[in-house]
Parts: sequence; structure tokens; C-alpha cells
Amino acid sequence: MKKVAVIGAGTMGNGIAHVFAMNGHEVKLIDISKDALKKAKATITKNLDRMIAKERISVADKKACLKNLKTSTSIATGVKGAELVVEAATEHVDLKLKIFKELDAKTSKDCILASNTSSISITKIASVTSKPDKVIGMHFMNPVPVMKLVEVIRGYATSDETTKTVMELSKKLGKVPTEVNDYPGFVANRILMPMINEAIYSLFEGVAGVEEIDTVMKLGMAHPMGPLQLADFIGLDVCLSILQVLQSGLGQPKYAPCPLLVNMVMAGKLGRKSGEGFYDYSHGGKEWILADSFKK
Ligand code: NAD
Repeated sequence: MKKVAVIGAGTMGNGIAHVFAMNGHEVKLIDISKDALKKAKATITKNLDRMIAKERISVADKKACLKNLKTSTSIATGVKGAELVVEAATEHVDLKLKIFKELDAKTSKDCILASNTSSISITKIASVTSKPDKVIGMHFMNPVPVMKLVEVIRGYATSDETTKTVMELSKKLGKVPTEVNDYPGFVANRILMPMINEAIYSLFEGVAGVEEIDTVMKLGMAHPMGPLQLADFIGLDVCLSILQVLQSGLGQPKYAPCPLLVNMVMAGKLGRKSGEGFYDYSHGGKEWILADSFKK
């Protein structure tokens, strides 16, 4: 499997493109936004430089990786000849259905169509294509070049052959693929998002401040990041979308997103990617500085 297309060049798409290009695949990174593509290339270059500084890769590896990476603003031309497409566009069901309809029309019948969705039904996404057996979830974790897990989600009609190909391919990328079934939030987010939502509720109800909540979970539970730091890192809009999928898909009020999360997303405070969430990233994000709204 040489030619891979990645749709969406945001937080996840640039990392996915980086990992495939590093492992010798010819990658076409596709986004409707030229600015997102520019930022993605800059992020990948910065991450490769960091790996050189840590002596994990050589300068020649960096060159080869960047040579494997091309960009495009068009799905129709970008996916030409692709043997695998990994979709990592914004977490909205209607958008994903539109993209998969187009992918179905523009890719060969053997091309595997994977989605990096955090929570949206793979079975539903597959239902708008003519080849649901070739549609699968390939849920990478953030940051993709660092995190080992790929949650591999089998939709109702995903074939054994497609699953086997994706499991083997993930191993070749140096990842640990783990097969799960297609229910809202799969495993990772069904467990993670209620914890993040509860942390936001604890803040909203005045149980404790941002730093106190994060400190309790870091030092008390040995989590490398606090839940509010992690929410900023994931993107608060992404967290909100996942909770909405859990709430509607599982039909239980316990998944209802905290009103504070809803307000922050409406105000454009999306976490690290927008410059502010629970923390302030306008200083470069190297230190954890509280956002003004949460200072005491
Ligand atoms: P993001 O907002 O950072 O990036 C999304 C990108 O998709 C943007 O650059 C946008 O321009 C692009 N896009 C929107 N419509 C498009 C279209 N029609 N064609 C091509 N590109 C389009 O989002 P993200 O955090 O990278 O999330 C992407 C996917 O990965 C989502 O499904 C999300 O649930 C999933 N995911 C996110 C994380 C995380 O930590 N952020 C982790 C695992 C999975």
C-alpha cells in the first residue's frame, strides 16, 4: 500500500500524514483551507526537527519524509490512485457523509476508506458508500507521531480482509492496533469524555478551580495531563461533538455536555488550537498559564 490520502490537515490530519510519510508512503494531504495545509506543513517540519534534536531520526529521514508529502485542496484530484484514504476532517456527521459519498465516487473499488472519527458511527458512514466492506475506523491518538494506540473500529459490514489489512498496516507504522466494535464513542471516548465532562462540571459547580482539578487528577491518578489540559489539547469543539454523539447514540442524560463547555465553544474558546480554552496559549503554550476567565 504505497499511496495514501489524508483528508483534513488539522490537529490530527497533520500527524497522520507525518506518520505515513515517515514510513515510506506517498501521502497526499487534502484540506479545503490553504492556510490549514500551510500550518500542517510547518507543524510537521517543526516536529521532524524536534525528532532530529532528540537523535530519533536523521536529517536524511526528514528530507525523505517531506519528499513523500504533497498537498491538495481538492478531494477529486488528491485521492487519484490512492490505495487507502484516511479521513480526519472536522467531527460533524453531515460533513463526513458528504466526504465519504465523494470518496466512493472518486476512488477505485479496492481502495480502503478509513475514518479517524472519535465517535461517529462507522456503519452510518459506510452506508453512504457502495463498498461498506471497505470502510473502517482508524482512530489515531493525539499527538499521532508519539501515541502508540490505533483504535481499529469494525463497522457492521467491514470485512475480515479490510480489518486484517488495516491491523497489519498499523503495526508497520509502529502502532499498536486494537480492534473494537462500532458503538457511540467506541472505547476510548466512551470512557474518556465522561471524565472530561465531569471535570468541567466540577469547575462549573465551583467544586474547585482549573489548576486544582488538573492537579488532583495528575498527582492523584498519575495521569500525565489533567482532564482540563487534555480537553484543551483535544479541542473543546471536538469534545462537545463527541459528547453529543454519546448522548444521542446511547440516549442517556449522563452524557449531556456541561453548559460551560457549550458556552466556551460558542464563544470560540476551543483550547490550544484557538489560543485559549481553560488555559491561555498566546505565550506559545510552553507553560500552563490560566486563561483570564478562570483566574481567581
Ligand atoms: P481540526 O478542527 O483540528 O481539523 C479539521 C480540519 O478539517 C480543518 O483543517 C478543516 O479545514 C478540515 N476540513 C473541514 N471540512 C473539510 C472538507 N470538506 N475537506 C477537507 N478538509 C476539511 O480537527 P481535528 O482535531 O484534527 O479532528 C479531525 C478528526 O479527528 C475528527 O473526526 C476528530 O473527532 C478526530 N480526532 C480528534 C482527536 C483530537 O485530539 N483532536 C483525536 C482523535 C481523533
